[in-house]
Amino acid sequence: MSPAPSSTAAAPQPSALPPSVSNSNGAPESSKTTVETSTDHKVKPARKPLLRLELRDLSDEGTRAFLRLLHASTALEDAVDAVLRHLYTGLGTHCIPPTRSVTLVLRSMPGVAYTTGSDLDDDHKEIHFSTNYINHVPDTRKKEEMQGVIVHEMVHCWQHNALGTAPGGLIEGIADWVRLKAGFAPPHWKRTTDSDWDAGYERTGFFLEWLEAEHGADIVRKINDGLRGCKYGEEEFWHKCCGSNIGRLWEDYKSSLGGGEDDDGDEDQTGAEKKKST
Ligand SMILES: [Zn+2]
Repeated sequence: MSPAPSSTAAAPQPSALPPSVSNSNGAPESSKTTVETSTDHKVKPARKPLLRLELRDLSDEGTRAFLRLLHASTALEDAVDAVLRHLYTGLGTHCIPPTRSVTLVLRSMPGVAYTTGSDLDDDHKEIHFSTNYINHVPDTRKKEEMQGVIVHEMVHCWQHNALGTAPGGLIEGIADWVRLKAGFAPPHWKRTTDSDWDAGYERTGFFLEWLEAEHGADIVRKINDGLRGCKYGEEEFWHKCCGSNIGRLWEDYKSSLGGGEDDDGDEDQTGAEKKKST
């Protein structure tokens, strides 16, 4: 091996990450009633994923807020840890998708965020997060909202989807359930039942939280694992997971909330947070 000539262009470098900093303000400030904050045990995938950060415009206020409020070197790792802990505790590593890399791309775009797999290899994921959206979130909520969106999107990098046949609302509900459990539920989230069970996002997320109380703490892990490597069939799926019909379970959930159509009759939220991440 001959040493590389020093005059050539620098070899490609991984994203620049700052040196590790003390954890003075790295933890989520708020604690919700149902939040599990234990980080005693890490659930590890068979292969440690490569985590990358891509900042498209350093002069963008959203980019600056991200760098100012989060520890960029650990934000993604913390999200991976939370997702794996909530979805795979007690399950073998063979149950965890073989995600090889996750790249967080901060860029100006409409909407909030979305996650996509590489065209060539779906094991490489990209989370695109809108700096316009970050800009619109009030300063007091910015840090927690960014963490919440990252956790939600990170779930999509690691969850099963019944070979693409699972209801989209269930996929989004599981993502928001993990966000809820990780302690990043935004204040405007409410338990509402003015929809079907698979309306997705926090509506389905809170329903899953109720299912946990009714069917045991492992129920969402069971649901996610039930979506691994096979197609979704509603009747069979819910009987296997919960011994009941999904319509029946949803009715029971509604009754538990007092049977109301909509808890408070006021579900209109204003502001950017009303827009959903995908
Ligand atoms: Zn989503």
